Amino acid sequence: MQELESDRALTAQNLLFRNVDFTSVEYMLERSHVRTLAAGDKLLQPELPNEHLYLILEGELRVHLAAQQTVEHATLVAGECTGEISLVDGKNPSALVVAAKPTRVLAVPHDTVWSLVDQSHDVARNLLAIIAGRMRHDNSALITSHNQRAQYEHQATVDALTGVHNRRWMNDAFPRVLHRCALNKQHSAVMVLDIDHFKKVNDSYGHLVGDAALKSLADIMQHNLRPHDLLVRYGGEEFAILLPDTALGEAKSIAERLRKMVAANEVVSHGVAFKITVSSGIAPIDEVSELETSFAQADEALYRAKEGGRNRVEIAA
Ligand code: GH3
Ligand code: MG
Ligand code: MG
Repeated sequence: MQELESDRALTAQNLLFRNVDFTSVEYMLERSHVRTLAAGDKLLQPELPNEHLYLILEGELRVHLAAQQTVEHATLVAGECTGEISLVDGKNPSALVVAAKPTRVLAVPHDTVWSLVDQSHDVARNLLAIIAGRMRHDNSALITSHNQRAQYEHQATVDALTGVHNRRWMNDAFPRVLHRCALNKQHSAVMVLDIDHFKKVNDSYGHLVGDAALKSLADIMQHNLRPHDLLVRYGGEEFAILLPDTALGEAKSIAERLRKMVAANEVVSHGVAFKITVSSGIAPIDEVSELETSFAQADEALYRAKEGGRNRVEIAA
């Protein structure tokens, strides 16, 4: 009897009955029943129909979205309810709802909820407010997950040290741009660039200083290439650049300009200051199908630049 009294009080405190004189609706208690859940028990499952609105008397429920049942979407506590979406649309629950600890809920049959709505404006308004609250929560979860996905995508295509795109991005972006250039009958060029004697930088000053030199080189290139040039950190201290709509002569001027800027730039890091130089090789490219051969040609030109004394630009033979 005492349990019944306290359940009555707990039910009256539910959001559904805010501003409602509970004595006018308490007949619903007779039509409802209490369900006791142990931690881990499932209350609602997307694959099973639901015919009740559950008012939480005590305990805690976790809501997991159907598509990703491991990730917790929301937590519901005493005074809140669950099952309102299937109440309104008559479909299966949209989420998996599981007890997070021993929990007691009052199961109110759908037809009883509708009779309460018919009878009381305040119950109707509270139900709408509960559903609006769910929608707001779902929207903000959507925005968060959208932003997270954008962030993950960014992280997956951008190199953390230099902020330059990585090889994975290149595999997608280079063919796309080349395809457009080919359609417009434009000639392009690929350039590969490698730091000279970079091992010595690491050996003399340490890896962290080597990293700073890489970052400094990437910054110079990013600031001095044209907006439509595609810069990629291709390997450890090797970069690849696609120069769209660029004749070989122009590509050579761009490479020379970068070479001089790098050679003139002082890298200052961890209390040491020094300069680095780069060598590069350039090859022409007109079609996506030539990517592999053009890269090989540019690599061969880079090799010659190294052999020829470094701090040089060479063009594919
Ligand atoms: P070369 O002029 O022939 O290119 O000589 P090199 O010493 O630069 O030779 P190589 O290009 O083979 O050496 C690459 C070196 O770059 C080896 C490796 O320790 C260093 N390196 C690669 N990635 C990183 C990085 O992310 N950070 C640092 N600090 N060093 C790197
Ligand atoms: Mg190298
Ligand atoms: Mg090198």
